Amino acid sequence: MSDCTACQAPIGARFTFTTCQSCEDWMRDRLNEIEHLWLELPDFLERGTTGAGPRVSGGNVEAPLPLNGDVLDLAVSVYLRLGPHEAAIRAARHEPAQAPRPVAADESGTDLMVSRVLRSLRRNLPWAAEHVDLAELALTLRELAGEMRHATGNRPDTKTLNTPCPACSGTLLLHHTTRSVHCSECGRPVDPAAFTARAA
Ligand SMILES: [Zn+2]
Ligand SMILES: [Zn+2]
Repeated sequence: MSDCTACQAPIGARFTFTTCQSCEDWMRDRLNEIEHLWLELPDFLERGTTGAGPRVSGGNVEAPLPLNGDVLDLAVSVYLRLGPHEAAIRAARHEPAQAPRPVAADESGTDLMVSRVLRSLRRNLPWAAEHVDLAELALTLRELAGEMRHATGNRPDTKTLNTPCPACSGTLLLHHTTRSVHCSECGRPVDPAAFTARAA
């Protein structure tokens, strides 16, 4: 019996896999989270901006805000840090390299590269969890998601809801970036629309 490549826990019944189910799910959540945070990143380019909030100005002269170096670094490094993992998984799977699609005038080449690499990682994740050592990818996803959360205001990732889980009365958690709700005890997902639906 072997251990999960990402968390080193015994892999149990999933013995044909390299990676346990909860690590696979966790990595999928981080890929979704990074995709959402990537879209928010440009709003935090100037230090002192809060995304949607008004800018701070001093007196009559509005001094330009200093640029946020963390955001600039991430704008470059998200692709550079995920790209090698994506290429390694595709190579292990003997998938041919994708022919690059030409960039349209109104889109950013970096946006395209980042969304392509995230899509490919998500698509190949179930296969990779069976065939590839995912320790390095898990580490990169943890660091990247943490840095992006920090650069976009460091909001807590989840909020505890007062409403108990309908299945087990456990604690429900709202995940801000993936906009999903799930029970921290039984793991059951709850449709957020159920909270606002009126009782018939
Ligand atoms: Zn694991
Ligand atoms: Zn529950």
